Amino acid sequence: MLIQRESSDQVRTAAARADRTLLMIPGPTAITAEVLAAGARPVLSHSDPRLRAIVAESLARLRLLFDAPSSQPVVLGGSGTLAMEIALANLIEPGDRVLILETGVFGGRFRAIAERNGAEYRVVTAPLGQVIDPETVRRALGEYRPKVMTITHVDTSTGVRVDIPPLSALAREHDALVVVDGVCSIGGEEFHGDAWGVDVGLTASQKAIGAPPGLAIVTVGPRARAVREARRRPFSGYFTDLKQWLPVMESYEGGAPGYFGTPAVTMLATLAAALDEVLSEGLPGRLTRHEWIARAFKAGVAALGLENVAAPEANANTLTVVRNPAGVGDELVEAVRDEGVTIARAIHPDLRGEGFRVGHMGACGPSEILTALGAIERALVRLGQPVELGAGLAAAQRALVAVA
Ligand code: PMP
Repeated sequence: MLIQRESSDQVRTAAARADRTLLMIPGPTAITAEVLAAGARPVLSHSDPRLRAIVAESLARLRLLFDAPSSQPVVLGGSGTLAMEIALANLIEPGDRVLILETGVFGGRFRAIAERNGAEYRVVTAPLGQVIDPETVRRALGEYRPKVMTITHVDTSTGVRVDIPPLSALAREHDALVVVDGVCSIGGEEFHGDAWGVDVGLTASQKAIGAPPGLAIVTVGPRARAVREARRRPFSGYFTDLKQWLPVMESYEGGAPGYFGTPAVTMLATLAAALDEVLSEGLPGRLTRHEWIARAFKAGVAALGLENVAAPEANANTLTVVRNPAGVGDELVEAVRDEGVTIARAIHPDLRGEGFRVGHMGACGPSEILTALGAIERALVRLGQPVELGAGLAAAQRALVAVA
């Protein structure tokens, strides 16, 4: 016998030690070997012509990704939260009003940013897993008259995707600027910044774009820029000041280097490689792939008798948030990891300890979602749940074949 027989526990421990875990959390996501390799290059000077070319090309591609020809993209070392802060803080002054549309916990960050900048805010909260009622938004806009309205396109705590156009149209009618958090959507969900009236869009590198974590991305439209220019009081942010960064980005796009702070040159190289993959695949094809695997994954989850938290009409293509079977807590996430797949716990206060989240975005295809479903099935069985092995996989397979 070539290999000694080991207990399944030993085998699983060895697999975990060998780092054979498939990363399926809703960000950061697994990246391709090409994107990884793009980061394994010598560090470039920020004025090196090669870096200039990388930045200029990436900014142009981000404009395509956000479908926002009128906007200036800005890319900085940081994460999605930095992008949220830059987006909102530049537009508000003490006493200004912000209307925050909340479909999960990430809207809460806009509350904190508004508060720290001395602005007032009102929140419209959707019931767990549900979309926001446009009539409630219309009323809130009419009564509150905010300067800015924020939308979380896909909230990563609930898996709810918001239909932006009807809401942004209402904001326009009431002269409010629209800020959209696309951290968990851009690159995996349809997005049309200009056509949807988005004044500032934002995301980060580590989700559906398929690059490692480390970059904050903001697109600034003309109305937002004018508001930044016309501030009555000086902006208290320094690194976060768009007035410093917009000319730097414009300079790069014009073929010359710019400087306000040292750019994250290695991260920028990985972003360029990821954007190359996004556009080589083609945006329509990429979005169809996300929709295809999302439908199959969600069908698999439902076939296991588990509940999708997001309502069917609002269920995102980039991730799935699932309620655990009664009596099962976060040990399910641990058990799935023991089966070789890393998923995430629920973070919404109403789901904490009672649910899990799976990201299926970026470099993710049918093989990954089937592997994840298989691991979830085995973990449920090991935890004593009455699950028929293969039931979720079969449903997912059928969904994959049906729309392939
Ligand atoms: N908004 C949304 C919708 C998110 O999912 C996240 C990250 N999970 C953030 C904002 C914050 O991004 P980061 O963790 O990169 O700061």
